[in-house]
Amino acid sequence: MPIDEGDRRRGLEKAVLWATEVKPSPHSKSPITAGELGTVVSVSRGLCVVEINGVRLQCRIRGKLTAAETSFTNAVVVGDEVKVSSDGMESGSGIVEDVVPRTSLLTRADVSYGHLRQLIVANVDQVLIVSSWREPRFWPELVDRCIIAAQRSGLMPIVCINKVDLAVDAAETRDALQPYEILGHRIITTSAVTGEGICMLRKVLRDKKTALAGMSGTGKSSLISAVHPGLSLRISHVSKSGEGRHTTTQATMLGLDIGGFVVDTPGIREFGLSGLRRHELAAFYPEIAPLALKCRFNNCSHVEEPGCAVMEGLRNGAVYLSRYHSFRAIRGTLSE
Ligand code: GDP
Ligand code: ZN
Repeated sequence: MPIDEGDRRRGLEKAVLWATEVKPSPHSKSPITAGELGTVVSVSRGLCVVEINGVRLQCRIRGKLTAAETSFTNAVVVGDEVKVSSDGMESGSGIVEDVVPRTSLLTRADVSYGHLRQLIVANVDQVLIVSSWREPRFWPELVDRCIIAAQRSGLMPIVCINKVDLAVDAAETRDALQPYEILGHRIITTSAVTGEGICMLRKVLRDKKTALAGMSGTGKSSLISAVHPGLSLRISHVSKSGEGRHTTTQATMLGLDIGGFVVDTPGIREFGLSGLRRHELAAFYPEIAPLALKCRFNNCSHVEEPGCAVMEGLRNGAVYLSRYHSFRAIRGTLSE
């Protein structure tokens, strides 16, 4: 269904507005009153942009929050609902005083502090896992990792296979997606080039807060532009007031003209599997879990042990080869 002209224009206006760097005027009064609630739409070191009633404010983060004793290296993340005050502010900027308890949270291990975790995005409803069919080639292991990460965070995973225009054999694509269909996952096949599946993608994203996951080059930006012409994921900096300094943001929340938001999530590979133990992995493979219980040896690695029920499942078709491969590959990266 084509979006009507009014919607399109509003969308473009919004995209332009949202793409504009936040530069508070030194003369404008902050439109906020103490304790007002807003949504964090982007974060860079020590600063974030909070949207309150359609107005965007650049905010500092209260020191007590950053120093709070959490197991996270960052205190505030995109998607957070926060309490903001304008204490001592004359210039349309504010201070984040507190974070409202989160309904969901995606995290990853912090590369600099192995024992700590880094927040990626808060309060989203679902994760759109974008994998291209070719260029780069469909990679079931990464899709499975993202599904597990979403499920561990209590979020609905949606598998989106993009660039289906590059598929030489449609049956091959169907076969590759069959394991996910059988498991009851929501799947969309799309092409940002031909427009295939874009209507369906709009339906999936409408009025939802969605985190985007997937390798770069799989077409996430192209898909978002197809859903919402004029909107670009590539808004990667926030200007710090007065200093003209640019810092890279971790993730940015973008409003869609059809309702809802998307958040691009960087660093997807290590996404969410930290802390997962080897013996816990089978629980995320519903076709493998009941079989793994039947293996002759408790510590079966499901490769060549006698009496391995998982290998037997592979032989009799209960387990798909691609899922078996990803299970084994991921299992190899987890600690006992
Ligand atoms: P991102 O890094 O995930 O945001 O990917 P981009 O949207 O930048 O796309 C990467 C490249 O793939 C670009 O050259 C796009 O033109 C191309 N691309 C994106 N979607 C499709 C598609 O559906 N089909 C084809 N053939 N190319 C696509
Ligand atoms: Zn086994």
